[in-house]
Amino acid sequence: MSAANAPLHRRSIAELREALAEGRVSAVELVEHFLDRIQRLDRRLNALITVTGEQALTQAREADARRARGQARPLEGIPILHKDIFCTEGVRTSCGSRMLDNFVAPYDAAVVSRLREAGAIMLGKTNMDEFAMGSSNETSWYGPVRNPWDLERVPGGSSGGSAAAVAARLAPAATGTDTGGSIRQPAALCGVTGIKPTYGRVSRWGMIAFASSLDQAGPMAPSAQDCALLLQAMAGFDERDSTAMDEPVPDYAAALERPPDRLRIGLPREWFGDGLDAGVAQVVEAALGVLTELGAELREVSLPSLKLSVPAYYVVAPAEASSNLARYDGVRFGYRCREPRDLHDLYVRTRSEGFGAEVKRRILIGTYALSAGYYEAYYRKAQQIRRLIREDFLRVFAEVDLLAGPTSPTPAFRLGERTRDPVAMYLSDVNTIAVNLAGLPGMSVPAGFSQELPVGLQLVGRDFDEGRLLAVAHRFQQATDWHRRTPSHFD
Ligand code: GLN
Repeated sequence: MSAANAPLHRRSIAELREALAEGRVSAVELVEHFLDRIQRLDRRLNALITVTGEQALTQAREADARRARGQARPLEGIPILHKDIFCTEGVRTSCGSRMLDNFVAPYDAAVVSRLREAGAIMLGKTNMDEFAMGSSNETSWYGPVRNPWDLERVPGGSSGGSAAAVAARLAPAATGTDTGGSIRQPAALCGVTGIKPTYGRVSRWGMIAFASSLDQAGPMAPSAQDCALLLQAMAGFDERDSTAMDEPVPDYAAALERPPDRLRIGLPREWFGDGLDAGVAQVVEAALGVLTELGAELREVSLPSLKLSVPAYYVVAPAEASSNLARYDGVRFGYRCREPRDLHDLYVRTRSEGFGAEVKRRILIGTYALSAGYYEAYYRKAQQIRRLIREDFLRVFAEVDLLAGPTSPTPAFRLGERTRDPVAMYLSDVNTIAVNLAGLPGMSVPAGFSQELPVGLQLVGRDFDEGRLLAVAHRFQQATDWHRRTPSHFD
């Protein structure tokens, strides 16, 4: 089927842009098409927390008018979804928590305003693990999201709503955030493409903080090309985020077309060991075969400190979370318990009732790790390990240009399968967490299926090498069609 007569939800952003530019479709038609899909299909998925239909239609009319005046911007009229961790002016921003169920942000996050200024239209806000803590979307106050490939399975997390919505083509693309794998792991489990940029590439301003030294926003979409178009709008310096890097933003779309020079790909031994599902291993092997045919040289490498990444992360991330989440006290905004007896009662009951079990577990771990007497043993040690992990990566990147392997050691697991065992849940991110600790860019690319469930190939690059990651993923996607497959009930 050629792009010109494919249904609107089966087209890429580049194809939609062309159709809009040639007047074959209007932004209003596009928005109506996706709102209709959301209304009909999201009942089965629970991928959205809030739908902003009226606002989207108003914006679509403005987009069409702008285009008629010859003032169309790069993403003019392209509908997208935002993870509900991004503040949106006048629209509820819940972060998947009861604590913020009634919170209407007074301003837009940088990611939201940048995409809007590029012409993109927000259709709504996606479901997520509470405060982005989780790997299955089961910690959300709004209930779990279901994986469109198998409704009895999880979509991954914490950006599970974004991943499921994109996989079911409820929107052409969505935003996500990734602290330890929350863009890449759900992208892998739902069969979509997602990129976590280098720490500092995208402004965190207005993105609700979980672990500030690890959090990073990025796009999720069917293809690397779509992600490139979105990242173009999202990336760049922002003086309101002191960790945003003042690095020029390359032309990512142009990077896709550049012929890759010699490409040396490292395969970290640690990603291919125990715990790797046999079906996933097979798919990844086949994907590496495709990369070889495209001219890549593969070589095994080793990152010995990687085995320490999950324990180090579960000290650093909860420590930062316990500090970031101290602000939810029932005084200024968000949930407040009923009829507090005094200030102490207000704090205790607000936080007991407003936070879910996983968030409380993190606050307890973090507070413990930061307390006098334990700080040296846990927090400082974890920071030292973090440094060793980054050094491992830098050493390997002197020899190879990027790393490849499985994003997740298993395909999507069943709802409830890991909820009673936090460590089993934490290990879902065993291949992604180190990348955040090192601050490097990483992405997940649909690579095939194991027992009818999608499998993702993870690519990790040097600092600010998003262009190369996207280019390699794009070449892979020109040679394969995994990223075009859609789950049968969501055709
Ligand atoms: N699953 C990891 C956690 O629960 C990572 C989450 C994330 O990247 N936001 O912390």
